[in-house]
Amino acid sequence: MNRPPALRVPLLDLKPQYEAIAPRVREVLEAVCASQQFILGPQVKTLEARIAAYAQCRHGIGVSSGTDALLLALMALGIGAGDAVITSPYTFFATAGTIARAGARPLFCDIEPDTFNVSAEAVSRLLERDCERRDGELIHRPTGLRVKALMPVHLYGQLCDMTALMDLARRFGLKVIEDAAQAIGARDAEGRHAGSFGDVGCFSFFPTKNLGAFGDAGMCVAQDAALAEHMEVLRVHGGKPKYHHAFIGGNFRIDELQAAVLNIKLDYLEDWSAKRALNARYYDQAFERKSLEAVRTPVARPGHHHIYNQYIVRVRDRDALREHLSANGVGTEIYYPIPLHLQRCFAYLGHAPGDFPQSERAAQETLALPIYPELTEQQLQYVVDTLAAFYSAGAGAASARA
Ligand SMILES: *Cc1c(COP(=O)(O)O)cnc(C)c1O
Repeated sequence: MNRPPALRVPLLDLKPQYEAIAPRVREVLEAVCASQQFILGPQVKTLEARIAAYAQCRHGIGVSSGTDALLLALMALGIGAGDAVITSPYTFFATAGTIARAGARPLFCDIEPDTFNVSAEAVSRLLERDCERRDGELIHRPTGLRVKALMPVHLYGQLCDMTALMDLARRFGLKVIEDAAQAIGARDAEGRHAGSFGDVGCFSFFPTKNLGAFGDAGMCVAQDAALAEHMEVLRVHGGKPKYHHAFIGGNFRIDELQAAVLNIKLDYLEDWSAKRALNARYYDQAFERKSLEAVRTPVARPGHHHIYNQYIVRVRDRDALREHLSANGVGTEIYYPIPLHLQRCFAYLGHAPGDFPQSERAAQETLALPIYPELTEQQLQYVVDTLAAFYSAGAGAASARA
């Protein structure tokens, strides 16, 4: 590749979005600066109420990041040493990282190959086959740990099979913490929102998420007033009243400045997510027209509202394709190259390659394509054509023959 690319399509470009709302954002930032009220002020209160309502929940607790939302939820539910939490090995690190930081053990279940979300069947198998009731507690036989909770991840912006998972959770008495970091506004066929199913729903406002702050921020949502209040107390070191500590919490506060930005951006979220879905439809149809055997487009569950935080294709010769796309100006990413059960820091869990074959295959075969709302049709078509050219040139055929 000596010629410069005909077009550049970055994986994500936040600048056009900012340009469109810059005057409104600057105005609220200026107002917060003028007030000099930076901690848990009116912008935070407003954002908490609005996000909770949007997610069909009663309470919102603004926190410092999506990671801290997960950690706070685990702490508030009293999950720690001697406990185990069921989750997916095919997710961002924070999902299992926070379980381990809380002192508990992640118990992995493999994913569905089509949606990449944790398989309710695999969870059911683990509960039925490897767990038993002892003195009113659910014990994971191989480790002797108490199974306390389920942490499903709505990966890429599509809900897990929450009907099946909530049914299992009720049957086995498990708490449910939804990792909805990538899924704000996603809903199932009945219109039920991500974050509204479990005891706590956790959102991230990391800049790359559909609703992104100007830095780190997150939120916990909940229906139960007592649990919400407990999270509020733990958010400020467990002090209530101030300087009186019945609990050990942390500093998990969201910034007033971030809340101000998010209050503006929230007005546009539905529109932005709808544009992502339109881009996804464009790709789906364009790839179908090319009928590329080597490319499988993402599967959206019928009736679900998928918010496409990522558009993930499963492809042949993934790494070579990625290089080809990069050389031609198309940005991509691999979410995620190493499933969590094979991460070095989790070696103590004793897993080996082959333990979760669907997660391992996904880690080798998937690629995220640019999907952000402001992409032009020309850019979308360029991504499709560039990808198709890779396979028609035979570059992708080598490994198929081998
Ligand atoms: C982004 C993300 C998180 C963590 O959120 P941060 O705000 O970056 O701390 C957790 N889980 C998943 C699935 C994520 O995508």
